[in-house]
Amino acid sequence: MLTALEFTQVPADEAAFRTEIRLFLNEALKDVPSHVKARSWMGTDDGFSLKLAKQGWLGLTIPKEYGGSGKGFYSRFVLSEELLASGAPVASHWIADRQSGPLLLRYGTEAQRQFYIPRICRGEAFFCIGMSEPSSGSDLASIRSRAVNTEAGWVLNGSKIWTTNAHGCHYMIALVRTSGETSDRQKGLSQVIIDLTLPGVTVRPIKDMAGDAHFSEVFFDNVRLGTEALVGIEGQGWDQVTAELAFERSGPERIYSSIALLDCWLEALRAQQYNDAQTSALVGALVAEMATLRALSLAVTQKLVAGESPAIDASVVKDFGTDFEQKLIRNIADWLGSHPDFVASPDLLQTLGYLEQMGATFSLRGGTREILRGIIARGLGLR
Ligand SMILES: Cc1cc2nc3c(=O)[nH]c(=O)nc-3n(C[C@H](O)[C@H](O)[C@H](O)COP(=O)(O)OP(=O)(O)OC[C@H]3O[C@@H](n4cnc5c(N)ncnc54)[C@H](O)[C@@H]3O)c2cc1C
Repeated sequence: MLTALEFTQVPADEAAFRTEIRLFLNEALKDVPSHVKARSWMGTDDGFSLKLAKQGWLGLTIPKEYGGSGKGFYSRFVLSEELLASGAPVASHWIADRQSGPLLLRYGTEAQRQFYIPRICRGEAFFCIGMSEPSSGSDLASIRSRAVNTEAGWVLNGSKIWTTNAHGCHYMIALVRTSGETSDRQKGLSQVIIDLTLPGVTVRPIKDMAGDAHFSEVFFDNVRLGTEALVGIEGQGWDQVTAELAFERSGPERIYSSIALLDCWLEALRAQQYNDAQTSALVGALVAEMATLRALSLAVTQKLVAGESPAIDASVVKDFGTDFEQKLIRNIADWLGSHPDFVASPDLLQTLGYLEQMGATFSLRGGTREILRGIIARGLGLR
């Protein structure tokens, strides 16, 4: 039986992979400033994603027969952690790799697996998540986009919003209504794959406060999809999406969104030999919290390895993790404000400025704090 310590450690054979990744990333990202690194899994670079694919690092846990590397979940944890910690621009392939590939592997037909998954692993097919709609975010079961089954396939109408990188993706996997009415809630929802180049699809990027257009609105006007667009079983979309969200929330990305700032600040502290007791106590407290969160995140990976659903545990880590990511920004900003003699580089200030603008989104994307707490309460039998 595994001890508690083993739950929170990467097994030695999979940990060895870290050195190879670090060497690659040190070289690939050596000239990238911190404020660019701060975009990390919101930063897109198709060429960088292709380079990772050439290394065999997309679809790491996907079986070799579908073009993946057939490695374990701990190896994927190590890879994700290194990519995030180094601020690698991974957004182009992140969703396809993290959840669309595994979703298709689990629910897709053999033809869908053969068609999409090898291209995901080669960095040739990027996916986005079509869940939220203008008046349906937390209340996802109230979505109104509808695909009607006809003899020639599905006809899709409606819209999605806040779709990360839709303008840079080839496909969307969308949750849509295929039967019943909005009042039927979870019943009658299905997942479909939409080729975003099809006639009737309009993708309109939305600029965020930092000036980046990283997400989009997507409109569907009588979009004709083949029968093969359906993923899994018609009407079972809710259960499939719940499983997909567990993949979405299970990785270490909910801990490391502000890590570029921590690294940049620590580097400056070392260079200026700032080691007074108050500063050391703050650094120690932040790093202790990060290490605890990392251990929790690894315990979620252990659940994936054991073939168990990490849904509740991942919600706990995401709730605490995003809290930490936001606290890091606040604490470093406060520290800078109370140390006027400290020389902050333009890069440090830009990194802080970017994260101060974006930090609020960390506890919204992937399910808000309140929604996660509801899931945790349900897991405890309280709802
Ligand atoms: C950076 C970013 C990227 C995103 N990317 C995607 C994406 O790729 N694909 C996608 O589909 N969506 C995406 N989203 C959308 C995201 O999933 C939604 O913003 C989120 O689910 C909240 O929905 P909402 O914005 O409609 O807010 P609302 O649901 O209107 O919530 C507003 C507030 O009310 C609270 N609230 C709502 N219901 C309850 C309740 N029952 N009990 C207690 N409090 C409640 C919420 O917690 C929140 O604080 C993204 C969002 C962001 C910020």
